[in-house]
Amino acid sequence: MRKGIVFAKRQASCIDKRGSTAIPPYSTKMMKLRLLLMLWLREKLFHGWGTVPEANQEIVKDGLIFSGLKKTKKTLILDLDETLVHSVTIGSTMRSGHVVEVKLENQHAILYYVHKRPYCHWFLTEVAEYFSLVLFTASVQQYADPVINCIEEEKPIFERKLYRQDCINEGGAYVKDIGKVEKSLSNVLIIDNSPMSYCLHKENAIPIEGWLNDPTDIDLLSLVPVLRAVSTIHDVRSFVVMRDGEKSY
Ligand SMILES: [Mg+2]
Repeated sequence: MRKGIVFAKRQASCIDKRGSTAIPPYSTKMMKLRLLLMLWLREKLFHGWGTVPEANQEIVKDGLIFSGLKKTKKTLILDLDETLVHSVTIGSTMRSGHVVEVKLENQHAILYYVHKRPYCHWFLTEVAEYFSLVLFTASVQQYADPVINCIEEEKPIFERKLYRQDCINEGGAYVKDIGKVEKSLSNVLIIDNSPMSYCLHKENAIPIEGWLNDPTDIDLLSLVPVLRAVSTIHDVRSFVVMRDGEKSY
């Protein structure tokens, strides 16, 4: 409550001397980053700064050598269509993109143009440093696999892939049960443009706007510092506090 008052005072102080509306001191994104930093510091205060040894580090205690505890990465589940890529069949209005061939059962091959969201590959290689990446799509495997190959480029990025057959069909809508991927819900996040996909685990979800073709989109780029901070949080569900930051503080 007190923090809310402080924030309101700061907002009020941003009206400039000429009385015109000034730019707020913190944008929503900056506020979220500040809240994340606070969460991270709180985690460090409560759970210590270096109590977990590095992987493979040896600890000598009472003359015995113990192997260091292996640090395990948290899991980040990523949706495919309209989150990382947008693809259209060849013959539609778009006439560019990476061409992939999709062969559905008992059907002729269909060619698709695949367009990667801006910063897609950089985003994936960056967040793979501190998360185990899992691709979870509601699309069929025959379509998804060649598209995933296209975005992984030379070397595999995703440690696991799940498809339409792994979703729960709720009256024609495909819901992703992230408990199938990671039992410990404190260690798993999902990024998906469809709220229906994560309706069972809203507290683990980072919504993202669906992407079609905007070349100036920076949503993936902006998520990198956020994810880097969240990867250090004891329970990623604390992130919901940050996501609804202004409401919670
Ligand atoms: Mg999608």
